[in-house]
Amino acid sequence: MKIRKDFLPFSRPSIGGTEISGVVACLKSGWITTGALCKAFEDKFCRLTGAKQAITLNSATAGMHLMLKALKLKEGDEVITPSMTFASTVNMITLHNAKPVFVDIDYGTLNINSDLIEEKISSKTRAIIPVHFAGAPVDMDKINRLARKHHLTVIEDAAHAVGTFYKGIHAGGFGHPAIFSFHPIKNITTGEGGMITLNSAGLEKKLRLLRFHGIERDAWKRYGKGGNPSYDIMELGYKYNMPDLLAALGLAQLDRWKELNARRRKLAELYLDGLKGLLKLDLPQVPEYEHTHAWHLFIVKIKDYPRDAFMEKLADYNIGYGLHFPPVHALSYVRKKYGSAGRSLPETKRAAQRIISLPLFPDMTEDDVQYVCRAVKEILK
Ligand SMILES: *Cc1c(COP(=O)(O)O)cnc(C)c1O
Repeated sequence: MKIRKDFLPFSRPSIGGTEISGVVACLKSGWITTGALCKAFEDKFCRLTGAKQAITLNSATAGMHLMLKALKLKEGDEVITPSMTFASTVNMITLHNAKPVFVDIDYGTLNINSDLIEEKISSKTRAIIPVHFAGAPVDMDKINRLARKHHLTVIEDAAHAVGTFYKGIHAGGFGHPAIFSFHPIKNITTGEGGMITLNSAGLEKKLRLLRFHGIERDAWKRYGKGGNPSYDIMELGYKYNMPDLLAALGLAQLDRWKELNARRRKLAELYLDGLKGLLKLDLPQVPEYEHTHAWHLFIVKIKDYPRDAFMEKLADYNIGYGLHFPPVHALSYVRKKYGSAGRSLPETKRAAQRIISLPLFPDMTEDDVQYVCRAVKEILK
């Protein structure tokens, strides 16, 4: 087949006229850091997710840091999460001197296997952090039942889950905290950024303090007309706020989430059709329960063919790719620090050797998908 001249990236944000005009209007407004646009972004995000509160942040990782801080984790406390996730979760658990306890996944969906969680719960377990992997929701009913039974906090890692619904409920709409990411590869972006959704006014107050140095009032209230520019610090805090400049981008992206995700779905369906029946490739599976998939990533698994060689060949065809994720239990510092944490994760290990994320982004054309399918078939034939 003829090799394309231009490189097809693995991902690219879809930035249109409303994003650009929104950011320009903010630039001209005289206020570019946290303020009214962040507030509008938070309100709109509550309407999408059904959560009572939402807090803008400069990353999802910051949200995980603050949430674990608010939990007052003690040294030796345990937090349950899959190893098949982005390492930031485990970094944040480790920052609090707590211990990650990894649960195996379902090979087909790459989601945490909710039937294997209970056996990992101990007297030290404080929280469960499931990931709606690639935009497919985890089995929230089962996880919520376990959390209630064992008095654990559930923190949804919803970094892939703008537009993910489980039995009609959006990620973040289940009554406990959920953390979203707006990194440029995610379904909607602010360049860098994140949001934590909540259902607790008390926790909201606490997280807002921790987000901004521990100062009790936002800068835009202190510097507004008649505001009091003095402040007190109630508690040691961090600096994790989102600027309005980025909220302007997020507001315009959020207005387009349905259109963007519909496009992702269409392209994913083309992939599923174009790649079916290949012996050396497993296609992504979807959960059996009722759900709406956000198709954040399209991850295939390569069998009976070395993955490194497969990636090299994709590069020869001018096709980009991703790896979501190198399993956390196998990262050097995690192995050194937690030794045996990678035991009893057979499906994680089986999937980890095989996964590769193919290009998927809203501005990709249907011809692009057909091109990738033809290349994959030619490589694996
Ligand atoms: C992207 C991602 C994060 C971190 O998001 P940031 O906004 O980059 O901090 C966390 N978890 C998962 C599963 C992710 O994919």
